[in-house]
Amino acid sequence: MRALIVVDVQNDFCPGGALEVPDGDAVVDAVNQLATGAPFVVATRDWHPPDHGSFAEQGGPWPVHCVQGTPGASLHEGIDQSQIDVIIDKGQAPDREGYSGFEGTELERVLREHDVDTVDVAGLALDYCVKATALDARRAGLNVTVHRGATRAVEISPGDADRAIAELRAAGVEVVD
Ligand SMILES: [Zn+2]
Repeated sequence: MRALIVVDVQNDFCPGGALEVPDGDAVVDAVNQLATGAPFVVATRDWHPPDHGSFAEQGGPWPVHCVQGTPGASLHEGIDQSQIDVIIDKGQAPDREGYSGFEGTELERVLREHDVDTVDVAGLALDYCVKATALDARRAGLNVTVHRGATRAVEISPGDADRAIAELRAAGVEVVD
């Protein structure tokens, strides 16, 4: 069984959002296309409490983003939600980074319940939450393919996207265009 994991395609990560990923909304069509052919689709949402430790005001690296229940935390309106079977909210523990969709969530259990052995991963951002989710999927023993064309990177430092790809490949993740 194959599943698609759509990582954090939320308003705050798209142009005009609180933590804009350059060209972030460009993944929407590619994600919908992948979802069309997928037998099972999980979407993750970054879903932080207002005092999350990743926020600059708490000493973290990021501006306030994806606060639970706010418009910025909603999935981008272009995402075809009728194709999504399960939504997994992550990043809810104030003191945990929560980049990975597997961290402190039901994701692994949900995939096992559906006999998933292979996952495709797409979404935002390649060099943070997509990478962390794909690496954890490998650690869970799944076959993992990241669809680079259906991701965008933050690239705080130039080259972060390429380094993420190298790290993924070294961990046995297949990376395709
Ligand atoms: Zn976050």
